[in-house]
Amino acid sequence: MKASTPAHERILRRVALQGDCWIYTGADNGKGYGVVGVGSMRDGSRRTEYAHRVIYCAFVGPIPDGYVIDHVRARGCRSTKCVNPAHLEAVSNRENVCRGDRPRQLAEENRDQARRQGQRRWR
Ligand SMILES: [Zn+2]
Repeated sequence: MKASTPAHERILRRVALQGDCWIYTGADNGKGYGVVGVGSMRDGSRRTEYAHRVIYCAFVGPIPDGYVIDHVRARGCRSTKCVNPAHLEAVSNRENVCRGDRPRQLAEENRDQARRQGQRRWR
């Protein structure tokens, strides 16, 4: 398998449908969450990321700072290994931010936005 295959594509190749849930059948972090290797060995950005977070970033959008991805039971989701974007929702939490396979430009936009919000606070 080529290293250049986007992480979300590698995840979707390992999905088993269970009702409306897309169950990721790849690696497990030992706590019931699917994980996948993201980033590049070459530039040292290689790391493990939650599969559902990678999918959320790829199909829904960037995860705001301080938010985590929740599996929404009200939408019929029954598994922490589910990666169906329709079952995922960003919820506020103090846990760390999304650092998925996003272009650097997006990260810079987020930072600029945070800076603008900070400036508003000063006025
Ligand atoms: Zn689900």
